[in-house]
Amino acid sequence: MIEIHDLHKAYDLPGGEVAEVLRGIDLVVPDRCITAVVGPSGSGKTTLSRCISLLDQPTAGSILVNGTDLSHLTGEALRRQRRAIGTIFQSSALLRRKTAAENVALPLRYLGVTEAGIRQRVEELLDSVGLPDKAHHYPGQLSGGQRQRIGIARALALGPQVLLSDEATSGLDPQATESILALLRQLKDQFSLSVILITHEMDVVRGTADQVAVLRQGRIVERGSVGELVADPASVTGGQLLPVAAPLSDDPELLQLEVRYAAGRPVPADWISRLCEALPVRV
Ligand code: ADP
Ligand code: MG
Repeated sequence: MIEIHDLHKAYDLPGGEVAEVLRGIDLVVPDRCITAVVGPSGSGKTTLSRCISLLDQPTAGSILVNGTDLSHLTGEALRRQRRAIGTIFQSSALLRRKTAAENVALPLRYLGVTEAGIRQRVEELLDSVGLPDKAHHYPGQLSGGQRQRIGIARALALGPQVLLSDEATSGLDPQATESILALLRQLKDQFSLSVILITHEMDVVRGTADQVAVLRQGRIVERGSVGELVADPASVTGGQLLPVAAPLSDDPELLQLEVRYAAGRPVPADWISRLCEALPVRV
């Protein structure tokens, strides 16, 4: 479980000004839960991701993984605790001159695991991501989706409790995206992970996230399950999450009423009756 409390991040700008990028983020992601963090460009998603993956130190606030505060560690303690958080980046993050197996082995090698230990662990990890036969392939010989699976295997190498994905599916085609998301759903149960999925794509959120947090100008302005947001007529994000259904009728007047209805705007009381006559269906 990861708990983020009142997290602030400010950057000093030249000229003595301060850019307040994160302004008090509270977020709790239990084990086996996928929380999506969505928000427009510039809202602070990458800054939040860099704080969670301990690449950047927050200005204030705390980040607890299974009760241990990681936010203000340095040196050896920071290196040790960083293992608790596995990060998946956009698909280009593999080393091109190393095979899939060597890429997955990197974190284990830094840790000084024995050759035999590495071989066995890499085999398990490639199995977990469904690519046991690609160990000796180079990144250039893999599809975008396969490269991302290797990135996930590497993120899991040190047995993290938290898996953080910053736009990991951007740039993948819809099928590859869907298969990566299905893999994340499987892995979070298999390894009891808290998954934080940072994305600007609503399609990614809709079928995957247990919880959604909407970031705007460094604050979380909406949160809830996908169902709760969609059911809330006041939720802007809920409106964006509504799947665009195929229109029921191709009659322009009825179509216009459908669009009004889907947008939560008033429609005439006899709309459903008129739709039934036109289709024709019984209700
Ligand atoms: P997102 O990933 O949601 O697009 P970012 O976290 O990258 O947003 O950026 C949020 C805001 O923080 C932007 O206005 C950006 O200019 C600012 N910012 C990010 N990094 C720095 C930095 N190192 N110094 C100053 N401002 C920064
Ligand atoms: Mg970003």
